Amino acid sequence: MRRKIVAGNWKMNGSKDLAKTLVGSVRSELASLDNGVEVVIIPPAIYVQDVAAHADGELGLGVQNVSEWHSGAYTGEISAEMAKDQGCQFALVGHSERRQLFGETDQAVADKVALLLDNGLDAIVCVGETLEQRENGRAEEVVATQVRQGLGKVSGEQWSQIVVAYEPVWAIGTGKTATAEDAQAMHASIRDVLADMGAPAEKVTMLYGGSVKADNAAALFAQPDIDGGLIGGASLIANDFISICRAVP
Ligand code: 13P
Repeated sequence: MRRKIVAGNWKMNGSKDLAKTLVGSVRSELASLDNGVEVVIIPPAIYVQDVAAHADGELGLGVQNVSEWHSGAYTGEISAEMAKDQGCQFALVGHSERRQLFGETDQAVADKVALLLDNGLDAIVCVGETLEQRENGRAEEVVATQVRQGLGKVSGEQWSQIVVAYEPVWAIGTGKTATAEDAQAMHASIRDVLADMGAPAEKVTMLYGGSVKADNAAALFAQPDIDGGLIGGASLIANDFISICRAVP
């Protein structure tokens, strides 16, 4: 049995008020969720404590990025140690927005993952191809390289702290989601890569992300290798996010 997770990545959105209203609404629905899904909120780091205060230990909490270095003289950065200290259990690593806009490399992803694991946090490692790469028939190869390099330092028991999120770049924020069949095919391919790396591939939780909405989540989550979702825009609207959490079988 793999963990089932729905995580809301707020990106650079939100406010103290959203932390209060959205987290309150999600919490009030939690008791009626009987599918065993772990619900995780990943707000901007500055709002982690606001979300934590309203979540009261009932929701998972994460940050959207950590530094590839230990705490020290790195103005503007936050470290894995700090995320841990603030009560986070999760951190995103290698989101495509960070790869594309902030030059995050597979090497940096590998370094960040290592620091997170050392601090006992779960790393949600994002991978995904661009539209051009998909149209050129290179999607699987590109994603396989991201997986091999980004998770290159993980071994043994540490695999239990790894979650892989497949987020095709062309599906993020575009309203264009991968078909359930295409998403499943990529997830199966990633699982093959993990097995080839010596990971306990059948035990690694894998999320799909990219325009997941209340009306397409169930078809995606019904796929055998899709264990939940990483949700952007729809995680900012309480009713939509709750519906997506309910769509996990
Ligand atoms: P959207 O759900 O807004 O497409 O964003 C997906 C995403 O990037 C989550 O990390």
